[in-house]
Amino acid sequence: MRFWRGRDGSGAAGRRPDAWEAIVDANVAMWNTLDDDEILNAVEAMDVLLSKRWEAAQGFVITDEHRVTIAAQASILAIALELSVFDDVPSIIVHPTTMRLTRPRAIGIGGNGGIGGIHAETSTVVGVAHDRRGPVLLAWDASLRGCRQPEHGHNVVLHEFAHKLDLLDRVIDGTPILDADLHNRWVRVCTAEFERLRSGAGSVLDRYGATNPGEFFAVATEAFFCRATRLRDEHPDLYGVLGEFYGQDPARRAS
Ligand SMILES: [Zn+2]
Repeated sequence: MRFWRGRDGSGAAGRRPDAWEAIVDANVAMWNTLDDDEILNAVEAMDVLLSKRWEAAQGFVITDEHRVTIAAQASILAIALELSVFDDVPSIIVHPTTMRLTRPRAIGIGGNGGIGGIHAETSTVVGVAHDRRGPVLLAWDASLRGCRQPEHGHNVVLHEFAHKLDLLDRVIDGTPILDADLHNRWVRVCTAEFERLRSGAGSVLDRYGATNPGEFFAVATEAFFCRATRLRDEHPDLYGVLGEFYGQDPARRAS
């Protein structure tokens, strides 16, 4: 059978390849902790993601393994969410490794009120989530490392897709779309935890989460799924609001 072949032959429309379970077994350690109902929901979400446009960058050649490994990880976020949470992900662009990003950055404001200048800032990253209906960019080596070794607590796929969930309300502020009751608790708990991380307190949360509230949510999502037991034990309130949002209890699965 021919997979990944869209109507235009470009591979735009995806299907789960026969080998998907073997790929997930080999690469996505977290998948093996899911119960049967969670797997059914994750597979549905995975199918949605596989139907997105997949593009390769920097000479990379995308195979079933790349698509399934990335889609399976991201699908775990959506086990208890509406499948429409991925509506604003039109495409996933896979780079072989770290990518260099050059972004224009305004520097200074002239004394007469004029713009000081535009400075090109280059950084190296393993993932990017563009806003609006922009793509998700991922480095394959980091994407694979994160799902094979979840105990390290870094998962770029969960991180970038968490940004896309945050962006569904068009604002990357660490607060995804929530019902009113959870929203109030979320803001209270996450503000306190963000300030605590910013103060330099040691934590299971990666220090990068202190960058801004958007990064805090993405980093907290990584910890919620990859270091669930520690997050629950050390930050029970944060674990609680994340658990309500995601509708999951990964610490139970881990035990
Ligand atoms: Zn980020």
